[in-house]
Amino acid sequence: MKRIYLDYAATTPTHPEVVKTMLPYFTDAFGNPSGIYSYGQEAKGAIEEARVKVANLIGARDEEIVFTSGGTEADNFALKGIAFANKGNHIITSSIEHHAVIETCKFLERRGFKVTYLPVDEYGLVDPGDVKKAITDKTVLISVMQANNEMGTIEPIAEIGGIAKDAGIYFHTDAVQTAGHISADVNELGVDLLSMSAHKLYGPKGVGALYIRKGTKLISFMHGGEQERRRRASTENVPGIVGFGKAVELAQQEVSEEVKRLTCLRNQLAKGLLERIDRTRLNGHPLKRLPNNVNISVDFVEGESMLLNLDLEGICASTGSACSSSSLESSHVLLAMGLSHEQAHGSLRFSLGKWTTEEEIERVLNILPGIVAKLRAMSPLLKSQK
Ligand code: PLP
Repeated sequence: MKRIYLDYAATTPTHPEVVKTMLPYFTDAFGNPSGIYSYGQEAKGAIEEARVKVANLIGARDEEIVFTSGGTEADNFALKGIAFANKGNHIITSSIEHHAVIETCKFLERRGFKVTYLPVDEYGLVDPGDVKKAITDKTVLISVMQANNEMGTIEPIAEIGGIAKDAGIYFHTDAVQTAGHISADVNELGVDLLSMSAHKLYGPKGVGALYIRKGTKLISFMHGGEQERRRRASTENVPGIVGFGKAVELAQQEVSEEVKRLTCLRNQLAKGLLERIDRTRLNGHPLKRLPNNVNISVDFVEGESMLLNLDLEGICASTGSACSSSSLESSHVLLAMGLSHEQAHGSLRFSLGKWTTEEEIERVLNILPGIVAKLRAMSPLLKSQK
Protein backbone atom coordinates (compact mmCIF):
# COMPACT_ATOMS: atom_id res chain seq x y z
CA MET A 1 0.00 0.00 0.00
CA LYS A 2 1.33 3.43 -0.93
CA ARG A 3 1.53 5.52 2.21
CA ILE A 4 0.18 9.06 2.30
CA TYR A 5 2.06 11.39 4.60
CA LEU A 6 -0.01 14.33 5.84
CA ASP A 7 1.90 15.26 8.98
CA TYR A 8 4.41 17.76 7.59
CA ALA A 9 3.87 20.05 10.59
CA ALA A 10 5.31 17.34 12.83
CA THR A 11 8.34 16.90 10.63
CA THR A 12 9.22 16.98 6.96
CA PRO A 13 11.22 14.41 5.03
CA THR A 14 14.75 15.67 4.46
CA HIS A 15 15.00 16.92 0.88
CA PRO A 16 17.31 14.67 -1.22
CA GLU A 17 19.31 17.74 -2.28
CA VAL A 18 19.80 18.59 1.38
CA VAL A 19 21.05 15.09 2.18
CA LYS A 20 23.46 15.30 -0.76
CA THR A 21 24.82 18.63 0.46
CA MET A 22 25.28 17.31 4.00
CA LEU A 23 27.09 14.05 3.18
CA PRO A 24 30.65 15.36 2.62
CA TYR A 25 30.56 16.97 6.07
CA PHE A 26 30.36 13.52 7.66
CA THR A 27 33.33 12.20 5.72
CA ASP A 28 35.87 14.28 3.77
CA ALA A 29 35.07 17.65 5.35
CA PHE A 30 34.71 16.35 8.90
CA GLY A 31 36.95 18.93 10.59
CA ASN A 32 36.20 20.76 13.81
CA PRO A 33 35.32 24.33 12.79
CA SER A 34 37.45 25.67 15.65
CA GLY A 35 40.57 24.12 14.08
CA ILE A 36 42.85 26.62 12.38
CA TYR A 37 44.09 24.07 9.82
CA SER A 38 42.34 23.62 6.49
CA TYR A 39 39.94 20.87 7.61
CA GLY A 40 38.63 23.19 10.31
CA GLN A 41 38.47 26.23 8.10
CA GLU A 42 36.57 24.32 5.44
CA ALA A 43 33.91 23.39 8.00
CA LYS A 44 33.88 26.90 9.45
CA GLY A 45 33.40 28.36 5.97
CA ALA A 46 30.45 26.04 5.33
CA ILE A 47 28.80 27.13 8.60
CA GLU A 48 29.22 30.78 7.71
CA GLU A 49 27.73 30.19 4.26
CA ALA A 50 24.71 28.55 5.89
CA ARG A 51 24.43 31.43 8.35
CA VAL A 52 24.19 33.92 5.48
CA LYS A 53 21.40 31.86 3.87
CA VAL A 54 19.41 31.56 7.09
CA ALA A 55 19.84 35.28 7.82
CA ASN A 56 18.77 36.11 4.28
CA LEU A 57 15.53 34.13 4.63
CA ILE A 58 14.35 36.30 7.52
CA GLY A 59 15.90 39.64 6.50
CA ALA A 60 18.53 39.51 9.26
CA ARG A 61 22.29 40.08 9.35
CA ASP A 62 24.37 36.93 9.52
CA GLU A 63 25.92 37.88 12.89
CA GLU A 64 22.40 37.95 14.35
CA ILE A 65 21.91 34.19 13.80
CA VAL A 66 22.90 31.65 16.47
CA PHE A 67 22.60 27.99 15.51
CA THR A 68 20.91 25.77 18.08
CA SER A 69 19.84 22.15 18.41
CA GLY A 70 16.33 23.00 17.17
CA GLY A 71 13.23 25.06 17.80
CA THR A 72 12.90 23.99 21.43
CA GLU A 73 16.38 25.20 22.29
CA ALA A 74 15.82 28.45 20.40
CA ASP A 75 12.63 29.10 22.41
CA ASN A 76 14.34 28.24 25.71
CA PHE A 77 17.32 30.43 24.80
CA ALA A 78 15.10 33.41 23.93
CA LEU A 79 12.91 33.26 27.02
CA LYS A 80 15.49 32.35 29.67
CA GLY A 81 18.19 34.42 28.00
CA ILE A 82 16.09 37.59 28.16
CA ALA A 83 14.45 36.87 31.52
CA PHE A 84 17.74 36.33 33.35
CA ALA A 85 19.63 39.18 31.69
CA ASN A 86 17.22 42.05 32.17
CA LYS A 87 15.45 43.92 34.97
CA GLY A 88 11.79 43.08 35.48
CA ASN A 89 10.00 39.85 36.29
CA HIS A 90 6.97 39.80 34.02
CA ILE A 91 6.51 37.94 30.72
CA ILE A 92 3.57 38.10 28.36
CA THR A 93 2.79 35.14 26.13
CA SER A 94 -0.29 33.49 24.65
CA SER A 95 -2.21 30.49 25.91
CA ILE A 96 -1.70 28.64 22.59
CA GLU A 97 2.10 28.55 22.39
CA HIS A 98 4.02 25.37 21.72
CA HIS A 99 5.12 23.45 24.83
CA ALA A 100 8.66 24.71 24.22
CA VAL A 101 7.43 28.19 25.22
CA ILE A 102 4.69 27.25 27.69
CA GLU A 103 6.91 24.89 29.71
CA THR A 104 9.76 27.41 29.72
CA CYS A 105 7.32 30.00 31.08
CA LYS A 106 6.22 27.56 33.78
CA PHE A 107 9.87 27.00 34.69
CA LEU A 108 10.38 30.75 34.94
CA GLU A 109 7.28 31.05 37.15
CA ARG A 110 8.90 28.57 39.53
CA ARG A 111 11.92 30.89 39.57
CA GLY A 112 9.79 33.86 40.65
CA PHE A 113 8.68 35.33 37.31
CA LYS A 114 5.08 36.27 36.66
CA VAL A 115 3.60 35.19 33.34
CA THR A 116 0.45 36.48 31.65
CA TYR A 117 -1.02 33.85 29.30
CA LEU A 118 -3.19 35.85 26.92
CA PRO A 119 -6.51 34.39 25.81
CA VAL A 120 -7.39 33.88 22.15
CA ASP A 121 -10.67 34.22 20.29
CA GLU A 122 -12.65 31.37 18.70
CA TYR A 123 -10.24 31.37 15.73
CA GLY A 124 -7.16 31.25 17.94
CA LEU A 125 -6.21 34.88 17.37
CA VAL A 126 -4.45 36.94 20.02
CA ASP A 127 -5.87 40.48 20.35
CA PRO A 128 -3.01 43.04 20.17
CA GLY A 129 -5.14 45.23 22.46
CA ASP A 130 -4.83 42.54 25.14
CA VAL A 131 -1.05 42.59 24.75
CA LYS A 132 -1.03 46.36 25.31
CA LYS A 133 -3.26 46.07 28.40
CA ALA A 134 -1.08 43.33 29.92
CA ILE A 135 2.13 45.40 29.81
CA THR A 136 3.42 46.58 33.21
CA ASP A 137 6.60 48.40 34.22
CA LYS A 138 7.98 44.96 35.14
CA THR A 139 7.48 43.38 31.69
CA VAL A 140 10.75 42.12 30.18
CA LEU A 141 9.51 40.08 27.26
CA ILE A 142 6.53 39.44 25.01
CA SER A 143 6.50 36.08 23.19
CA VAL A 144 3.75 35.24 20.69
CA MET A 145 4.10 32.59 17.98
CA GLN A 146 3.81 33.60 14.31
CA ALA A 147 1.51 30.70 13.48
CA ASN A 148 0.13 27.90 15.56
CA ASN A 149 1.37 24.38 14.90
CA GLU A 150 -1.96 22.68 15.67
CA MET A 151 -4.64 24.74 13.97
CA GLY A 152 -2.54 26.96 11.73
CA THR A 153 -3.83 30.41 12.69
CA ILE A 154 -1.42 33.21 11.77
CA GLU A 155 -1.11 35.80 14.55
CA PRO A 156 -0.98 39.62 14.11
CA ILE A 157 2.75 39.71 14.85
CA ALA A 158 3.55 43.01 13.12
CA GLU A 159 0.88 44.80 15.19
CA ILE A 160 2.18 43.27 18.42
CA GLY A 161 5.71 44.16 17.31
CA GLY A 162 4.69 47.81 17.04
CA ILE A 163 3.23 47.73 20.55
CA ALA A 164 6.37 46.08 21.96
CA LYS A 165 8.60 48.63 20.25
CA ASP A 166 6.58 51.60 21.57
CA ALA A 167 6.79 50.15 25.07
CA GLY A 168 10.53 49.35 24.74
CA ILE A 169 9.98 45.66 25.51
CA TYR A 170 11.77 42.77 23.82
CA PHE A 171 9.57 40.76 21.48
CA HIS A 172 10.11 37.11 20.54
CA THR A 173 8.21 35.04 18.02
CA ASP A 174 8.31 31.29 17.49
CA ALA A 175 8.48 30.98 13.70
CA VAL A 176 9.10 27.23 13.64
CA GLN A 177 5.98 26.61 11.55
CA THR A 178 6.36 29.67 9.32
CA ALA A 179 9.99 30.26 8.35
CA GLY A 180 10.43 28.98 4.82
CA HIS A 181 6.66 28.59 4.36
CA ILE A 182 5.37 32.17 4.56
CA SER A 183 7.22 35.47 4.95
CA ALA A 184 8.97 35.72 8.31
CA ASP A 185 10.95 38.94 7.85
CA VAL A 186 12.20 40.14 11.24
CA ASN A 187 11.90 43.82 10.31
CA GLU A 188 8.40 43.54 8.86
CA LEU A 189 7.35 41.60 11.95
CA GLY A 190 9.17 43.95 14.33
CA VAL A 191 10.69 41.16 16.41
CA ASP A 192 13.91 41.12 18.43
CA LEU A 193 14.13 37.34 18.63
CA LEU A 194 12.83 34.62 16.31
CA SER A 195 13.04 30.81 16.60
CA MET A 196 13.41 28.45 13.66
CA SER A 197 13.83 24.71 13.16
CA ALA A 198 15.35 22.95 10.13
CA HIS A 199 13.26 19.78 10.22
CA LYS A 200 10.05 21.71 9.52
CA LEU A 201 11.38 22.96 6.19
CA TYR A 202 12.88 19.82 4.64
CA GLY A 203 16.15 20.11 6.56
CA PRO A 204 17.57 17.66 9.10
CA LYS A 205 16.35 17.14 12.67
CA GLY A 206 18.33 18.46 15.61
CA VAL A 207 19.27 21.84 14.19
CA GLY A 208 17.64 25.23 14.37
CA ALA A 209 18.46 28.86 14.96
CA LEU A 210 17.65 31.82 17.12
CA TYR A 211 17.69 35.25 15.54
CA ILE A 212 18.88 37.82 18.07
CA ARG A 213 18.57 41.45 16.97
CA LYS A 214 21.86 43.33 17.36
CA GLY A 215 22.01 45.09 20.73
CA THR A 216 19.63 42.68 22.47
CA LYS A 217 20.74 41.90 26.01
CA LEU A 218 20.52 38.20 26.81
CA ILE A 219 22.63 35.65 28.62
CA SER A 220 24.30 32.77 26.83
CA PHE A 221 22.45 29.51 26.78
CA MET A 222 25.30 27.02 27.01
CA HIS A 223 28.62 27.71 28.66
CA GLY A 224 31.88 26.22 27.52
CA GLY A 225 33.83 27.01 24.37
CA GLU A 226 33.66 30.19 22.36
CA GLN A 227 31.50 28.93 19.48
CA GLU A 228 28.70 31.06 18.03
CA ARG A 229 30.33 34.28 19.32
CA ARG A 230 30.22 32.86 22.86
CA ARG A 231 26.45 32.69 22.74
CA ARG A 232 26.17 28.93 22.44
CA ALA A 233 29.09 26.72 23.39
CA SER A 234 29.60 23.23 21.90
CA THR A 235 31.20 21.98 18.70
CA GLU A 236 28.86 22.92 15.90
CA ASN A 237 26.64 20.36 14.18
CA VAL A 238 28.36 21.02 10.86
CA PRO A 239 26.40 18.62 8.59
CA GLY A 240 23.14 19.73 10.22
CA ILE A 241 23.89 23.42 9.81
CA VAL A 242 24.97 22.92 6.20
CA GLY A 243 21.75 20.99 5.56
CA PHE A 244 19.72 23.72 7.21
CA GLY A 245 21.35 26.29 4.90
CA LYS A 246 20.56 24.21 1.81
CA ALA A 247 16.97 23.65 2.95
CA VAL A 248 16.49 27.37 3.43
CA GLU A 249 17.95 28.08 -0.01
CA LEU A 250 15.50 25.62 -1.62
CA ALA A 251 12.58 26.96 0.40
CA GLN A 252 13.29 30.49 -0.77
CA GLN A 253 13.31 29.40 -4.41
CA GLU A 254 10.03 27.52 -4.13
CA VAL A 255 7.99 29.36 -1.52
CA SER A 256 5.70 31.50 -3.65
CA GLU A 257 4.67 28.60 -5.93
CA GLU A 258 4.28 26.27 -2.96
CA VAL A 259 2.01 28.70 -1.10
CA LYS A 260 -0.35 28.80 -4.10
CA ARG A 261 -0.30 25.05 -4.68
CA LEU A 262 -0.76 24.12 -1.04
CA THR A 263 -3.51 26.67 -0.47
CA CYS A 264 -5.53 25.04 -3.28
CA LEU A 265 -5.00 21.54 -1.88
CA ARG A 266 -5.74 22.72 1.67
CA ASN A 267 -9.00 24.33 0.56
CA GLN A 268 -9.98 21.23 -1.41
CA LEU A 269 -9.40 19.05 1.65
CA ALA A 270 -11.15 21.35 4.14
CA LYS A 271 -14.17 21.94 1.89
CA GLY A 272 -14.46 18.25 1.03
CA LEU A 273 -14.32 17.11 4.64
CA LEU A 274 -16.92 19.63 5.81
CA GLU A 275 -19.22 18.70 2.93
CA ARG A 276 -18.87 14.94 3.19
CA ILE A 277 -18.96 14.52 6.98
CA ASP A 278 -21.77 16.12 8.97
CA ARG A 279 -21.24 17.61 12.43
CA THR A 280 -17.69 18.66 11.51
CA ARG A 281 -16.05 22.04 12.04
CA LEU A 282 -12.86 23.65 10.85
CA ASN A 283 -10.61 24.76 13.71
CA GLY A 284 -8.53 27.89 13.33
CA HIS A 285 -9.06 30.97 11.21
CA PRO A 286 -10.63 30.27 7.79
CA LEU A 287 -8.28 32.69 5.98
CA LYS A 288 -5.49 33.79 8.29
CA ARG A 289 -4.05 30.30 8.42
CA LEU A 290 -1.01 28.41 7.22
CA PRO A 291 -1.34 27.31 3.58
CA ASN A 292 -0.77 23.67 4.54
CA ASN A 293 -2.96 23.21 7.62
CA VAL A 294 -6.41 21.65 7.95
CA ASN A 295 -7.61 20.98 11.50
CA ILE A 296 -11.12 19.66 12.00
CA SER A 297 -13.25 18.50 14.92
CA VAL A 298 -15.64 15.68 14.23
CA ASP A 299 -18.49 15.25 16.71
CA PHE A 300 -19.00 11.90 18.46
CA VAL A 301 -15.65 10.35 17.53
CA GLU A 302 -12.22 10.28 19.10
CA GLY A 303 -9.31 11.76 17.15
CA GLU A 304 -7.11 8.83 18.17
CA SER A 305 -9.59 6.30 16.73
CA MET A 306 -9.75 8.18 13.43
CA LEU A 307 -5.96 8.36 13.40
CA LEU A 308 -5.53 4.61 13.92
CA ASN A 309 -8.11 3.80 11.27
CA LEU A 310 -6.45 6.19 8.83
CA ASP A 311 -3.12 4.55 9.59
CA LEU A 312 -4.59 1.16 8.64
CA GLU A 313 -5.33 2.76 5.25
CA GLY A 314 -1.76 4.05 5.00
CA ILE A 315 -2.65 7.66 5.81
CA CYS A 316 -0.56 9.54 8.39
CA ALA A 317 -2.16 12.51 10.13
CA SER A 318 -2.13 13.80 13.67
CA THR A 319 -4.30 14.83 16.58
CA GLY A 320 -3.01 18.12 17.90
CA SER A 321 0.74 18.50 17.95
CA ALA A 322 3.13 15.55 17.69
CA CYS A 323 4.15 16.08 21.29
CA SER A 324 0.62 15.87 22.69
CA SER A 325 -0.71 13.17 20.38
CA SER A 326 0.85 10.41 22.46
CA SER A 327 -0.85 11.69 25.61
CA LEU A 328 -4.59 11.68 26.06
CA GLU A 329 -4.76 15.21 27.42
CA SER A 330 -6.98 17.56 25.43
CA SER A 331 -5.09 20.05 23.33
CA HIS A 332 -4.49 23.25 25.34
CA VAL A 333 -4.75 25.14 22.05
CA LEU A 334 -8.24 23.92 21.16
CA LEU A 335 -9.46 24.37 24.74
CA ALA A 336 -8.15 27.96 24.73
CA MET A 337 -10.26 28.58 21.61
CA GLY A 338 -13.36 27.56 23.52
CA LEU A 339 -13.81 23.99 22.26
CA SER A 340 -15.20 21.48 24.74
CA HIS A 341 -13.05 18.52 25.82
CA GLU A 342 -15.18 16.28 23.55
CA GLN A 343 -14.63 18.54 20.53
CA ALA A 344 -10.91 18.81 21.30
CA HIS A 345 -10.66 15.02 21.56
CA GLY A 346 -12.44 14.66 18.23
CA SER A 347 -9.87 16.75 16.39
CA LEU A 348 -7.64 15.76 13.53
CA ARG A 349 -4.81 17.70 11.93
CA PHE A 350 -3.73 17.22 8.34
CA SER A 351 -0.61 19.12 7.34
CA LEU A 352 0.33 19.10 3.68
CA GLY A 353 3.72 19.51 2.05
CA LYS A 354 5.99 19.39 -0.93
CA TRP A 355 5.04 15.88 -2.00
CA THR A 356 1.29 16.08 -1.36
CA THR A 357 -0.80 15.52 -4.48
CA GLU A 358 -4.42 16.09 -5.46
CA GLU A 359 -4.91 12.31 -5.71
CA GLU A 360 -3.80 11.92 -2.11
CA ILE A 361 -6.29 14.53 -0.97
CA GLU A 362 -9.04 12.77 -2.94
CA ARG A 363 -8.12 9.49 -1.29
CA VAL A 364 -8.46 11.01 2.19
CA LEU A 365 -11.82 12.50 1.17
CA ASN A 366 -12.98 9.09 0.03
CA ILE A 367 -11.71 7.19 3.05
CA LEU A 368 -12.43 9.38 6.09
CA PRO A 369 -16.26 9.61 5.81
CA GLY A 370 -16.47 5.80 5.96
CA ILE A 371 -14.19 5.67 8.99
CA VAL A 372 -16.28 8.30 10.78
CA ALA A 373 -19.52 6.48 9.96
CA LYS A 374 -18.08 3.22 11.29
CA LEU A 375 -16.84 4.85 14.51
CA ARG A 376 -20.07 6.75 15.05
CA ALA A 377 -22.06 3.55 14.71
CA MET A 378 -20.33 2.29 17.85
CA SER A 379 -19.90 5.63 19.60
CA PRO A 380 -21.11 5.82 23.21
CA LEU A 381 -20.98 9.61 22.80
CA LEU A 382 -23.54 9.48 20.01
CA LYS A 383 -25.73 6.89 21.75
CA SER A 384 -25.93 9.08 24.88
CA GLN A 385 -27.23 11.95 22.68
CA LYS A 386 -30.07 9.88 21.23
N1 PLP B 1 7.68 25.50 18.17
C1 PLP B 1 6.72 25.06 17.34
C2 PLP B 1 5.63 25.98 16.94
C3 PLP B 1 6.75 23.75 16.85
O1 PLP B 1 5.79 23.32 16.02
C4 PLP B 1 7.81 22.90 17.27
C5 PLP B 1 7.83 21.47 16.82
O2 PLP B 1 6.81 20.84 16.64
C6 PLP B 1 8.79 23.42 18.12
C7 PLP B 1 8.70 24.71 18.55
C8 PLP B 1 9.95 22.57 18.56
O3 PLP B 1 10.90 22.45 17.53
P1 PLP B 1 12.00 21.28 17.56
O4 PLP B 1 11.30 20.01 17.26
O5 PLP B 1 12.98 21.67 16.50
O6 PLP B 1 12.62 21.33 18.91
